[in-house]
Amino acid sequence: MDDEKHAQEATQWKQKYLDNLEESERSEKQWKDSDELLRKTISRLTLAADGLDETLDKQLRELRNAIRDHSSTSQLRTRIDEMSKTLVRLDQGGGKKKGEKQDTPEQTGESGGFLKRLFGAASRQVQDEDIVLSADQGSPDTQVSTETVSDILVQLLERLTLPEEFSPHVERIREHILGMTEGGHWDSVLEEIADLVQAIRAQSLKEKQGIEEFLKQLGKRLEEVDRQLVQSEVYYDDSLQAGLQLDSQVKQEITGIGDSVRGATDLGQLRQTVQAHIDAVMQHMTKHRVVEQQRYDEAKQEIASMSERMKDMEAETEALRSRIDDERSQAKTDALTGVPNRLAWEERLELEIAHRKRFGTPLVLVMWDVDHFKQVNDRFGHKAGDKVLRTLAHVLADNVRETDFVARYGGEEFVQLMTGSSIEDCLSVAEKLRSAIEETAFHFRDQRVTITASCGLTEYRDGDTPDQCFERADKALYKAKNAGRNRCVSD
Ligand code: GH3
Ligand code: MG
Ligand code: MG
Repeated sequence: MDDEKHAQEATQWKQKYLDNLEESERSEKQWKDSDELLRKTISRLTLAADGLDETLDKQLRELRNAIRDHSSTSQLRTRIDEMSKTLVRLDQGGGKKKGEKQDTPEQTGESGGFLKRLFGAASRQVQDEDIVLSADQGSPDTQVSTETVSDILVQLLERLTLPEEFSPHVERIREHILGMTEGGHWDSVLEEIADLVQAIRAQSLKEKQGIEEFLKQLGKRLEEVDRQLVQSEVYYDDSLQAGLQLDSQVKQEITGIGDSVRGATDLGQLRQTVQAHIDAVMQHMTKHRVVEQQRYDEAKQEIASMSERMKDMEAETEALRSRIDDERSQAKTDALTGVPNRLAWEERLELEIAHRKRFGTPLVLVMWDVDHFKQVNDRFGHKAGDKVLRTLAHVLADNVRETDFVARYGGEEFVQLMTGSSIEDCLSVAEKLRSAIEETAFHFRDQRVTITASCGLTEYRDGDTPDQCFERADKALYKAKNAGRNRCVSD
């Protein structure tokens, strides 16, 4: 019965260990994805500065190569530090284009420094599905504005989905970016981003080491438990042997008694011989009982300590599991609004599409976008804009069915999934949400401000890829905007 219980506990424990291992692998993958995204983005951003200075070009090339070759953080740090020095030099007017002699700022007639030149004039086209800095080389009326760079960097920060502990760091950078004015200096923002990347890497390494250490400890404890189990077997074998020995000793004494009885001539002598055999039996039994008692006590102690260890391991595993769960849910929550983020959205969309394919339940995708949101930021500041986003996220999330889903897609865009209702019904739900947004009272600088939003809806159709479905909703949203905003349009 006890054996059965132990075997059951061991199986349960093994399952927990395997689950845990899987969790930690998943968590590591998430870190790797973030790291990859950052590396990719930095690599793309470096292209924007190409062709402006020979030394910088070389450093940028080396940095891209280092990123591509997955160089260590400290190697990247050294390169970024070197680059920062060049940037400072260039910002003070020390730039040197390919084939150019070193010119003073007076000679080139430039003022305002290199970073102004970089983000203010001579940028060239860099394309990516996520990030587009688009401008014809050298054309003064197609400059990449501070606003565009701000938007790109803010989007980048949002996409990072970092753990809570980085929030103050991210918030500082965000404030810094959103507070940038035209012609402002970007070097300190880039420095801060580089520091953030460094901190993320350090944290990721720390986490990894923590999990490795935990698994190592777990391995050691398992070995100990295994050793104790072997010891229990030894106790059992010894006990069995001792039982057999007692059995043969008793048999021997009984045979002795039989022999004495058969060969007895004198009753007095017989009584003495029988008494001696009985005494011997008693002695064997007493000795056996003492040894067995001792063995039993030791085994009991071992079992108690083993079960104590098992409990410790269980508690530690549970703590690790809940930490991983927290981190996981944090990674899927938008830090600004507290609603699910884009990562959570992508997972849920995939799941709902699989469900729709299997059971045929209608699935409707809604894409929301706040109207003239830029004006809110421009008139009342980005903190007011943030407040609008937080409030709207909750107006949407708190007014949908439990089975529906709302996420912040990025910037001032939200996405929603509705299941089990026709597109017509979903359109009327969206209309209600739209008017709830319109009726939400916002007060900035003692002014009542009305905020509106538009949305595009589409139903998932057989054979759709997630992207096709998303694009249809986006087109419907575009129609809503073109038709005058503050409306819902279905495809
Ligand atoms: P439209 O009606 O056509 O949607 O106009 P819009 O002004 O809402 O659209 P646009 O895409 O031109 O501007 C969106 C703005 O949202 C620009 C960007 O700075 C701002 N934004 C993006 N993310 C955030 C954020 O997290 N907080 C704040 N305050 N503003 C943000
Ligand atoms: Mg938008
Ligand atoms: Mg908008």
